[in-house]
Formats: sequence, structure tokens, C-alpha cells
Amino acid sequence: MKRQLRALLTLVWAERSFYTIGSVLVVVSVFTGLSYPYFVQQLIDQGVMSGQIERVNRIGVILFGLLLAEGLSTVARDYFFNLAAERVTARLRQKVFDHLLRQDIAFFDRQRSGELTTRLWSDVPAIGRVVGEEAADSSRFALFALGGTALLFYTSLTLTLYVMLAVPPIVIASWWLGKRVKVLATQMQTAYAQSGGTAEESMSGIRTVRAFSQEAAEGARYGRTIDRALDLARRKILVTGALSGLTFGFGEGAALLALWAGGRLIVRGQLTSGQLIGFVLYAFLVARGFRNATGFWTDALRGLGATSWVFELLDRTPALPRSGSRRLDRVDGAVTFDGVAFRYPTRPDVDAVADFNLRVAPNEVVALVGRSGAGKSTIVNLLLRFYEPSAGHLLLDGHDVNTLDAMWLRQQIGVVMQEPVLFSGSIADNIRYGRPDATEEEVAAAAALAHAKEFIDRFPAGLATAIGDRGVQLSGGQRQRLAIARAVLRRPRILILDEATSALDSENESFVQDALRALPYRPTTFVIAHRLSSVATVDRVILLDRGHIIAAGPHDELLRTSDRYRQLVETQLVPA
Ligand code: ADP
Repeated sequence: MKRQLRALLTLVWAERSFYTIGSVLVVVSVFTGLSYPYFVQQLIDQGVMSGQIERVNRIGVILFGLLLAEGLSTVARDYFFNLAAERVTARLRQKVFDHLLRQDIAFFDRQRSGELTTRLWSDVPAIGRVVGEEAADSSRFALFALGGTALLFYTSLTLTLYVMLAVPPIVIASWWLGKRVKVLATQMQTAYAQSGGTAEESMSGIRTVRAFSQEAAEGARYGRTIDRALDLARRKILVTGALSGLTFGFGEGAALLALWAGGRLIVRGQLTSGQLIGFVLYAFLVARGFRNATGFWTDALRGLGATSWVFELLDRTPALPRSGSRRLDRVDGAVTFDGVAFRYPTRPDVDAVADFNLRVAPNEVVALVGRSGAGKSTIVNLLLRFYEPSAGHLLLDGHDVNTLDAMWLRQQIGVVMQEPVLFSGSIADNIRYGRPDATEEEVAAAAALAHAKEFIDRFPAGLATAIGDRGVQLSGGQRQRLAIARAVLRRPRILILDEATSALDSENESFVQDALRALPYRPTTFVIAHRLSSVATVDRVILLDRGHIIAAGPHDELLRTSDRYRQLVETQLVPA
């Protein structure tokens, strides 16, 4: 909580000019608010009671002036506070997002991305309320409560003591129920985030949902998460309601008590009617002041409770890269796995790869083959430093990759994923993704080399054609060609190709060859191969099983020497 407040204050401090102006305006409105009852009292005692019409007029004008001043200062105050709060939340969102982008891949294995994005837009506004108009309003009310209390004592000591009776129950109720509200709010927010994650899962898998006719089941699954959140919301609303009911009842009740006691004092000649009216106005002001200030306090606690995850996240330092900052002047592309073992942090009981020894020479093209789950993708993940080996060393040109700058290392690697992700934007933007400074000619050349030019030229807008949600849809093969262009535009020393498993995509037949042809030099290449045509052309095939290498060598040789390989070729690889 303390760290959270400190982090929040840092963000608020950045907007201090807005807050300073806003605070001055708060003071103005407190001053005007507190002077009302005083002038009303004057109006009655010195004007009405003594029959002086001139005084009534004068004080009336003063009261209007005060009203105008209060109105204007409130409008301006809200402007400054709300703008500041909006800027604080916008900056916080950006900060959280930037921080998320830097988290290690293992972090994303544990989190549902839909949940994170839901939380980012649903929780952060709660912070906005804590540092915005409501903060200004409640500090005004808090000042009303304090200043009003002083003026109550000044107006009538006896009556003030009556009013004070309301304070202890209100304080106790706020403290106790406030804590409850905070807990419930956190739980509710988490429940809504989970339902957001569920919804995202169904939406992104809509084709599967439709194909299996699971619309009703998915709806029901979402419904269950919503029901849970709703139940928590109901309990939170109940507690919040009880809290405001209690403060309202005790506060206004005390003011009424004072009215009754004051009436008796007037009858006894110990108080003027103007004083009583002034007192009651102050008492209501104080009651409202306390109520609003405590109401804000519970809101603020709720907001902070719901958003503690944001600050926890900002405190989280990614486990990777702990890497060094070394960059090599020259990369030949020799890759060595030296006794590498790895277990996924989310599955610590299973070796994804174990005792893995492999030397790949510069310019060599190796194919990783094996049944699904054999560890092919894990090898690639380690090479990209998405994860760190649990044991052993991974070397690039003889240098342990742990000592190298991870960002720089990834710049040396070009990757074509099995299901390439393209971002909304033009075709050119997507090809340029890893090298934003590439010229139009370089982009066009990369597209041509990746055999993407044929289909790009068929679009009227060519490279400028928008793709994704708001543009044309591309076939799997076309997407993969763009991904090849994107990877080779970076001129990588190491190339990783994850071949599509789908046998239907005949466009993809010569995927590996296409990718290799797209570069005028030979990078060290790792192919996760699913096709006979791919393994037949590479320098060396590595057969994996349960994280171990069980055979390695050229395709023809393995066919002769390894039964397991022959079996795999017959049953797993796509002919052609
Ligand atoms: P392949 O690419 O050959 O199909 P993988 O390298 O993906 O195999 O998987 C190797 C092992 O690691 C499998 O047992 C798989 O279940 C596990 N695994 C893969 N990815 C993850 C992950 N993100 N979290 C936990 N376990 C994983």
C-alpha cells in the first residue's frame, strides 16, 4: 500500500501545476461555502429582526456574489483536477503497457492476455477517480467539516457538543465497513477480469466454438464468471449502502438534535434565531462534509484495492534478460548447445529438453524433426532467449548467450513462425516490422525474393494494401510469404523457420527453399520440418524424442541407419 501510494504520488507530482491551480480554487470555494451561514445569520439578526431593509439588500448582494464565486471556482477546479487525473491515468496505462511488453515470456505463460487487457481498461479509471474531481470535492468537504466544526464551536458550544455525538459512530462505521468494501471490490474486480479473459478466449477461438456448436456452452461459461462477479458486486453495494446510510443517519440526526436543543435555548433567551439558523446550516455543512469525505475515503480505498495489481506489476522486474550487454562485432553464426536442459516454469516436473548437445556450423541448414511435444519449439525458444536454460550453455560463435545483449542477439535472428502474426497496417508496414528504417525498394525486393510479389501486385494498392481486421484477408501461404519477407529484410545471420503442419496448403510446398532463396547468402538455419521435401534438402536432420536427440545426420543416411527415423518419415512427414 505504501509503495503504491508512493508510485501514485510520483505520477501526481508530474501534474503538479494542474493540481496547484486546482487546490487554490478549492480553497476559494471552501472560503465561500463557509461564509454563507455567517452572512445568513447576519441577514436575519441585523437585517430581518431589526427591520433594516437596506442591510437586507446589501447582504443579499454579498450572498449572490459568494454564490457566483463558488460556481466559477468549482467549474474551473473540476477542469484542472479532471484533466490532471486523465493525464495521470493515461500515463499510468502507458507505463503498465510498456512494462508488460518487457516481461519475460514465462510471465505470459501464466497470464491470460485477455485478462490483462481487460484489467488495463477497467481498473485504471478507478485510480482516475482517486486523483480527480472527486479528490478535489472531498478535500473541499473535508475542509468544510474542519472549518465548519471550528465555526460551530464559535457559534454555540452547547449545541456543538450535541452534534459531536454523531462523530464516533461515523468514524467507527467508516473504518470497519470501509475495509470490507475494499476487500470485496478487489475480489469483484478480479472476477470481472477473469470473465474478460474468458470472453476473449471464446472470441479468439470463435471458429472452434462454431465448428463444435459450443455457442451455448461458451455463453454459459461466460455467464458463470459474470454471475460470480455480480454476486460480489451485490455484496459490495450492500456494504457501501450500509455505510452511507449509517453516516447519513447519524450526521443529519445530530443536526436535527441541535435544532431541537437550539429551539429550547432561543425560548430561554440564550440564543438568537439568526445564530440558530447559522448553526444549523453549519451543522448540515459539517455533516455533509464528513459524509462526503468518508465516502471518498472508501471509494479511494476501493480504487486502490482494485488497482494494487497495477503497482505490483510495475514493481515486477522481468526475470529475463539478466543478460550481459556484450555485442559481437562480427557474427559467423555457429550455434552450440552444450548439455542444455530446460523445464518450463509452468511445468517444472517435466524436462522439455534434457542433455541436449548440438553443434551447428555457420551456414549449415538443420531440420528439427520429431513427434509433437518432442521439444522442437523449445529449442527455438531457447535460441531466441525467450527462456533461459535450466542447465548447460548455449553458445553463439563460442560466446555464452547469457553474456550477450539479448536484444542485439534477437536482431541477428530472423524468425518465420508457423502461424505468422501480422499486425493491422499495410503490407509494407508488416514487412518492415523488424526494420522500420528499410526503404521502399528494400521492402519490395524482400517481397519479391520471398515470392510474395505475385500476389501483392494483384492488389490495386500493392504494398500499401491494408491487411488484418480492417483490410484484406490473406491465405495461410500468403501470410507465410510476408513473414519470410519480414524475416529476411533484417538480413539475419541465423534463420528459424517453423514450417506449417497443414498438408492442404500446397502454396507452401517449397517454403524452406523459398525462404533460403530470399537471401543472397546462407544464414545458419533451423527448420522445424514437417515435410519430406524439406528434410530431403537440408544438410542435417536432427531427430528429437522427449527432449533428447536420438539420431542426427543427412536424410539419406538416417533413412538407412535409423529405424525410428524411417518410421517417422513414413507416419509423420507430409509427402511432397
Ligand atoms: P514440439 O515443438 O516438438 O511439438 P515443444 O517444444 O513445444 O514440442 O514441447 C516440449 C515439451 O514442453 C512438451 O512436453 C510440452 O508440453 C512442453 N511445453 C511446451 N511449451 C510449453 C509452455 N509454454 N509451458 C509449459 N510447457 C510447455
